[in-house]
Amino acid sequence: MQQRQPNTTVGVRVGSVVIGGGAPVVVQSMTNTDTADVEATARQVEQLARAGSELVRITVNNEPAARAVPLIREALERRACRVPLIGDFHYNGHRLLTQYPDCAQALDKYRINPGNVGQGAKQDLQFAAMIEVACRFERPVRIGVNWGSMDQGLVSRMMDENARLAEPRDAKEVIREIMLVSALGNARRAEELGLDRNRIVLSCKMSGVQDLIAVYRELAARCDYALHLGLTEAGLGSKGIVASTAALAVLLQEGIGDTIRISLTPEPGGERTREVVVAQEILQSMGLRSFSPTVIACPGCGRTSSTLFQQLAKDIQSYLRLQMPLWRERYPGVEVMNVAVMGCVVNGPGESKHADIGISLPGTGERPAAPVYVDGAKAVTLRGERIAEDFQALVEDYVRRRFGTAGSR
Ligand code: SF4
Repeated sequence: MQQRQPNTTVGVRVGSVVIGGGAPVVVQSMTNTDTADVEATARQVEQLARAGSELVRITVNNEPAARAVPLIREALERRACRVPLIGDFHYNGHRLLTQYPDCAQALDKYRINPGNVGQGAKQDLQFAAMIEVACRFERPVRIGVNWGSMDQGLVSRMMDENARLAEPRDAKEVIREIMLVSALGNARRAEELGLDRNRIVLSCKMSGVQDLIAVYRELAARCDYALHLGLTEAGLGSKGIVASTAALAVLLQEGIGDTIRISLTPEPGGERTREVVVAQEILQSMGLRSFSPTVIACPGCGRTSSTLFQQLAKDIQSYLRLQMPLWRERYPGVEVMNVAVMGCVVNGPGESKHADIGISLPGTGERPAAPVYVDGAKAVTLRGERIAEDFQALVEDYVRRRFGTAGSR
C-alpha cells in the first residue's frame, strides 16, 4: 500500500467512520431517489453501501423528506445496514432541522451550503440555527461551498472590491478566492457558535479540473479542517470519470482530501453504484486503499481474434466484485490479490507470473491451451469449452487456500 502523507487535518467522526486526521480516504456517494419515498431511498442507500460507499448522503429538501429520514434509518436497520447517513440541506435547512428533531437525530452529519442559507440579516440567523442543532445533537457538519450556488452577497462585495483595484485580478481567480473566504469564514463562524473543529468538514467544489486543483491546494494551505473532495457536475460516462480522476489524483497524491465523492451523471438506466466503483478504483489504482482484487487484462490486438479473453476478463472482474461482501468477512486481505487475464503468448505468461494467479489464453494460430500460473509458477493448462468455469474454480480455490482462516501463507 502506498504510504500517503496526508495534509494534516483534524479527524471528524461520522457514526462509525472517521474523516481526516490521517484516517484512510473515505468513499461516499449520494442517492438520486425522492427522499420522501422511504422504500426506494432505503433500497438505494443499501445498494450504495453494499457497493462500498462508507457514507451516503440524501437530500432533505422538504417536510415529507424530513419526516421520511427517521423511517429510512429504521428501514436500513431492519436490513442490517448501518451506513452513516448525511442530510443535504439547502434554503430551508434551518426550519427542517429545528422542526423535525427526529430527522436531525437520525442523520449522522449535515451538509450546509453557505450559498443557500439565506440572504442579508437572515443569513447569519439561519446558519446559526443549523449549527445550534448540530451542537445539540453532537453531529458534524460539512460546510460545502459550490461554485454553482455561491453566496451572492459575498460575490457582489468581492467582485466590486476587485474591480476597484488598480490591476484587477482575473475573474476565475476572484471566484476561487470567494469560495475560500466563504468556506473558511463560515467554518470560523461555526466554531464561534460552539461547534468543535473536530465536527467540521470543508469542501469547495468546482467543475473545472484546474480550478478544483488550485482551490483545494489553497484551502489545504490555509486550514487544517478535514476536506471533502469532489469535482462537481463531473458529467456523463468516460468524461465524468476521466475529469474526476484527473483532478482527484493530483490532489490525493499531494495528501489533500480526506473523503471523496464522484459526481457522475448516470447513463439512462445506469447504476447509481457506478460512482462508488469509480471512487474505489481511483483510490485502489493509486495504491491508497484496496477494496477488491485487481484484474490485470491486456487490451487485445490482432494476435487474438477471439473475444474469449475479453469475456473472461469481464466475467472474472464481475465475479470478484460480487463475492467481495462475503469474502471481505471470510477471507481477510483478499482485496490485495491480483488476477491476470491475458490474450496471447506475447505478454501472457510474463504478466500472469507477476500476478497471484493468471491465465494466458491462446492467441490466433496458437495451440488451444491456456496455461494458468499460480504465485509465479505454471500450475496447470486448461483446454476445451469450459476454460472460463475452470479458471474461476481455480481462483476460488486459490482464495480459499491463501486467505481462509487456515490459510497456508
Ligand atoms: S498479450 Fe497478446 S493479445 Fe494481448 S495485447 Fe499483448 S500481444 Fe496482443
